[in-house]
Amino acid sequence: MKKLFLVLVASSLLCVQEAVAWGGWAHKLIAIIAESHLTPEAKALTEKYLGSPIYNHASWMDEVPVWKKNHIPGWEQTSWWHMCTVDKVGKNRFALSDKRASSGDGDLYPNLVQCVDNLKNYRNLTDSAVVVNLKCVVHMVGDMHCPSHIFYTEFEDCFPRKINGKKYRRHDQMYVYYNGKKTTNHRVWDGLSIKEIWPEYGSDYEKFCKALDTASPRKRAKMCKGTIEEWVLQNAKDIRYIYDDITPNCKLDRQYLLDNQKLSKQQCLRASYRLAHILNECFK
Ligand SMILES: [Zn+2]
Repeated sequence: MKKLFLVLVASSLLCVQEAVAWGGWAHKLIAIIAESHLTPEAKALTEKYLGSPIYNHASWMDEVPVWKKNHIPGWEQTSWWHMCTVDKVGKNRFALSDKRASSGDGDLYPNLVQCVDNLKNYRNLTDSAVVVNLKCVVHMVGDMHCPSHIFYTEFEDCFPRKINGKKYRRHDQMYVYYNGKKTTNHRVWDGLSIKEIWPEYGSDYEKFCKALDTASPRKRAKMCKGTIEEWVLQNAKDIRYIYDDITPNCKLDRQYLLDNQKLSKQQCLRASYRLAHILNECFK
């Protein structure tokens, strides 16, 4: 069903490809690092289908729904394809959860797996279907590793809800202050963390890549071992402490992000190397 959906929307979506200004700084950085670890075959094929390197398409999934959700039946299903949902099953142990998906919201994990399976079969897909699946994979692997993209179902506020007329925000959307400015926990990790930790590189992607992409081949291979499910659960375990550490309206600053820079770098590199690994496996 999902496979059919992705194929059906493919051609309608292609027409807006050039009209949207892509954002998503961290998504681009992850895809640039991934690009440098693609095999020659994967690099050539991804560029052939997309018309340019993968990093130019890393935020397509964030941008296209804004344009198209009212025009393409079914596209609104993808709103939750950016977040993973997990259940706590023991002390610091988690399992994939279908609680959000079964409520009709959808979830990142099953859709990423579906898109990767579709890409493995790229020779039998239309070009436009390959393009859509490819752009979804490039984006979802980035989101999967972002510290603010995991829902922990044991938190009461995993789902946004209204109680006695008052709206409760999702736990990733908890209000916090960053350098005195009101923002959300989601934004601190999604939008700010990497740039704030390494401000000396500005928006210079080349310098960022040189500074971050330092893992040895052995370390890279170790990060790419395992399944997508194992990667989601590893992320859920490693990221969890940031939700335990903060409280509503707490005051955060750069020192907080510096104290957690190991996590930011680790998640960025896991996403980059795993994205390259997935694409290398699909296009061989
Ligand atoms: Zn996203």
